[in-house]
Amino acid sequence: MNRSVPSSLVHAMEVIHSPDVARDFVWSLRGEGKTVGLVPTMGALHQGHLSLVRISRESCDATIATIFVNPTQFGPNEDLDKYPRTLEQDCELLRAEGVTAVFVPSKESMYPDGYSTMVAPPKIARPLEGVFRPEHFSGVVTIVLKLFQCLPCHRAVFGRKDYQQWKVIEAMTRDLNVGIEIVAGDIIRESDGLAMSSRNRYLSPAQRARALRLSESLHAASSAVARGERDVQALQGLMRDCLRGTVAPGATGSTGVDKIDYAVIVDAETMVPLMQLDRPAVALIAARVGSTRLIDNQLLMP
Ligand code: AMP
Repeated sequence: MNRSVPSSLVHAMEVIHSPDVARDFVWSLRGEGKTVGLVPTMGALHQGHLSLVRISRESCDATIATIFVNPTQFGPNEDLDKYPRTLEQDCELLRAEGVTAVFVPSKESMYPDGYSTMVAPPKIARPLEGVFRPEHFSGVVTIVLKLFQCLPCHRAVFGRKDYQQWKVIEAMTRDLNVGIEIVAGDIIRESDGLAMSSRNRYLSPAQRARALRLSESLHAASSAVARGERDVQALQGLMRDCLRGTVAPGATGSTGVDKIDYAVIVDAETMVPLMQLDRPAVALIAARVGSTRLIDNQLLMP
């Protein structure tokens, strides 16, 4: 038998489609005494996703990524059909990062005919995204719990980019005794500050320039906090002005976003509104540039 390993297989990565095979795969890793980390994604991968893979790789013996564009978390007029799908490239990126396996379930294996169970999201899902995307978090907690059932890992890594989603998943995992540790990774940004997102590829160059208003607004708020501002109304007003392009802290672009869904500062743990910045808080923005809805956030310390 030829024992030399072809170079193309040095970083072999399993591509698994079946939920049952996925579960057996994780249990066999665990049987070998390995710790297993999970990185759920919807694909169209960028450095933000890969940073989560690296976090998992640092603390786990094996890392499983998932790629599934989950239909139940999209609203009726959202971008499910046009969501970017770049599976081959994604697999290559994951393989190069040393991922052990990628789970790519079909829509039919996740939501077969007759599927009807949806998980009710925790209370922290109600404000903000919960108002603008009413069914979104029910879809998110349902798919995340399903992925946890298919891939019974030790740890799962999520990005702070989707701040409320991270908090919702933490609460769901705690409330339902899931027994998987939720780990959060920092927001990865482009060099000009734009938070990386699979949806950034929808933006034209002119829209991309206007999309910078989100990170600029957050920067304006944190600079004001550093100068001593503690009044949340004032800070939120500053963020809105900056989003509208009526103040220009950055050198690029001159006009604002097309619509602000919210630009708020809330308690970083409970996500309840604040009057004064007297505890760890998070500034959160959701805004539209053209038809693209973008979100971003930043922690603010008093
Ligand atoms: P998505 O593919 O958009 O569902 O995102 C999959 C995971 O990647 C989620 O946990 C996101 O919060 C995380 N993520 C997306 N963009 C970023 C980013 N720019 N920095 C860090 N994590 C991110």
